[in-house]
Amino acid sequence: MKPLYDSKEFPPVTEIIPIDYERIAKASKREKVDGTKSIPLYITRDCPFECSFCVTPNFTGKLYRTQKPDALKKQIETAKKVFFKAKGKSSKPWFMLCDENLGVSKKRLWESLELIKECNINFSVFFSINFLEDKETVRRLVEAGCIMVLVGFESIKQSTLEAYNKGHVNSADQFARLIDECRQAGLNVQGNFLINPSLDSYEDMDDLVTFVSKNNIFMPIFQIITPYPGTTMYWEYKNNGWITDENREKYNAMNLVIRSDKYDPVKFQHKVHDQLQQGLLMEKHC
Ligand code: SF4
Repeated sequence: MKPLYDSKEFPPVTEIIPIDYERIAKASKREKVDGTKSIPLYITRDCPFECSFCVTPNFTGKLYRTQKPDALKKQIETAKKVFFKAKGKSSKPWFMLCDENLGVSKKRLWESLELIKECNINFSVFFSINFLEDKETVRRLVEAGCIMVLVGFESIKQSTLEAYNKGHVNSADQFARLIDECRQAGLNVQGNFLINPSLDSYEDMDDLVTFVSKNNIFMPIFQIITPYPGTTMYWEYKNNGWITDENREKYNAMNLVIRSDKYDPVKFQHKVHDQLQQGLLMEKHC
């Protein structure tokens, strides 16, 4: 053992190896699933963007890398063989693509979609909304079996997106149009939203409820902003003295761990948990 291992001489990682489903099936107790439960898969790793709240750049790096296309089909067929059992109406397996942001390289995406199409599967995937501007990409996604994209909208306010360094990835004024275009093309859109007491008012939350309802966003997720350790946001908030709680058990996007000058912290949490959900339910019944 050396006291220090210097990674400078390691070759650059440009590809990722496929998942060995045969081996996983032998080693795990996971049973076969029908098409109502997903089988995880990934084609790419990482995302070159640097949204301040996101753990991806630190967790899996910023070096976008992909699997070799020729391994992809074999991998899916193996996963189907060892983890899928056709039952009733769910005759197609459902894969959850765990890629952090599948659309980063359009060339690799299109290549992968061509191969996935031949595998006769359904899948859902994380995808930046700006990549859905390209109608041909949306068409190819649907044709390949994509039933849902999980989009990190984060906010419907451009100023909030700018504060998270996500303004160059998301354009709030395009959201409604893009959601509608995806739906027309047969692609469902799930949305994730972050709520921040220093950037979002109660009125903004009400606007968000209306937006989600009006645009029929599928299974919206509302999270209280959390400066996860290692993120740019964590250091920014820590250096500014905005973090009020370092108890990691509370770092689950359901607790407020940062300063809230405008609102009582407990009432703010209550508003996010109860009123956002309830407001959505009420809007749905109107
Ligand atoms: S685009 Fe998505 S995956 Fe990439 S850094 Fe931003 S939040 Fe993270």
